[in-house]
Amino acid sequence: MRSWFRRRAPAAVPIDAALWRAASAKWLFLRGLSAADHERLRALCERFLGAKRFAGTHGLEVTPAMRVEIAAQACILVLELGIEWYEGWTDVIVYPSQFMPEREEMDEAGVVHLTRDPMAGEAWLGGPVILSYEDVALSGDAKARIAGYNVVIHEFAHKLDMRNGDPNGFPPLHRGMDAREWKRAFSAAFTDFTARVEAAERLPGKRAQAALDALPIDPYAAENASEFFAVASEAFFETPELLAPAYPDVYAQLALFYRQDPAARLP
Ligand SMILES: [Zn+2]
Repeated sequence: MRSWFRRRAPAAVPIDAALWRAASAKWLFLRGLSAADHERLRALCERFLGAKRFAGTHGLEVTPAMRVEIAAQACILVLELGIEWYEGWTDVIVYPSQFMPEREEMDEAGVVHLTRDPMAGEAWLGGPVILSYEDVALSGDAKARIAGYNVVIHEFAHKLDMRNGDPNGFPPLHRGMDAREWKRAFSAAFTDFTARVEAAERLPGKRAQAALDALPIDPYAAENASEFFAVASEAFFETPELLAPAYPDVYAQLALFYRQDPAARLP
């Protein structure tokens, strides 16, 4: 009896139908989702809200609408996987805008530097997800959004990647998936993409930015394998029409992993 109580899932927090409609109407990643899937996503969000604790910083009040927006973006990743994939941690911390944590970083010469880089989001192994709400809202803003940019999907993809330890672009794969196929698809795409980013950066002045903007996914993906997976996940849900033709093998592996085919949902 005691263990049953301990293991019982936290109570779901009901989401008002009007609030759900308002919070979910504007997001690209919901394009083409059937009414039945919308309902399943809402139910998943209700469980997510029951399991996670939200806190704002710098006086930010995380309103019910903000919670639902964040939940919807986080839960699209696990719509076919289950909320259990987000077990093992509790807190979602929301900054009003980008934040600048002080970090000590050691360079190749072994010298430790104190850095302060502006960040839109962060995901900690076994710890919180941290988000800048300005960036969260950007992905839902039809006029201001940058194609493929979604900080919530990005950070929660890191969380899935961390299900088997430090993020490395290699989340736990499902039975029937082939780890060698995953590795082959992702390393080939990463090598190709990194070369394209480097070629773009070598161009003079404005042409460099134009070439970077024309890439099928965010150039930040060239950072490392873990960032490539997180950025590819953003593109998979936000702009599958760009990712699928550019890197079909990566798209196919992500479709197996997320058990969804967002490109096929598009009209
Ligand atoms: Zn990242």
